[in-house]
Parts: sequence; structure tokens; C-alpha cells
Amino acid sequence: MELIEFKKFIKALDEKLKDASYDKEKRILARTVKLSEELGELANDVLSFNADQRDEKLDAYDASNLPQEFADVIITTLLLAESMGVDVEKGIESKIEKIKKRYEI
Ligand SMILES: [Mg+2]
Repeated sequence: MELIEFKKFIKALDEKLKDASYDKEKRILARTVKLSEELGELANDVLSFNADQRDEKLDAYDASNLPQEFADVIITTLLLAESMGVDVEKGIESKIEKIKKRYEI
């Protein structure tokens, strides 16, 4: 998927998920909590990936879900940015430049 298509998808999803009863501040806080939840799910799978969990959790672990857990974090992050009017693409571009300078890439 091209970045432009991904941005369109995030905008469409943002519109679909907008709850009219939520004001902007409440939506931002709800998405921040959701991001924390998704990050926790990814962290759980990372622990399982490293076999650093108790047996019951390792038995429930399905490595094929790992890419989707990464995707959940990325999508939820972009939805949060969308609700705050933050241009993540611009942020990534300037951050890449900083990192390139730092590591002389
Ligand atoms: Mg998830």
C-alpha cells in the first residue's frame, strides 16, 4: 500500500470512528488510552516471541498475529495524530534527517 493510500485510509477510518457525542479533547484522550492498550498487546507478543512468558501465555501465543499487533500500534498512533491535526509524514521526514545526521547515514 502506498503512503498516500494509507493516509486516505486513516482519514476515512477517523471519520467512521468519530463518535458525535465525543468532543475533540475526549477523542484525543480515548485514542491515547487505546494506543496504550495496543502497545500492551504488542509488548505481550514481544515477550512471547522471546519465550519470556509463563506457559499458559506461551500456549495462547500465535506468531502469525505479530504483524497485525505492530499494525494496530501504527494505525492507532496515526488516528491519534489525525484527531490532533498532526502531520506525521512531515514529522517522520524531519526526524529521519536528524537521525541521518546523528549516525552519519
Ligand atoms: Mg492489538
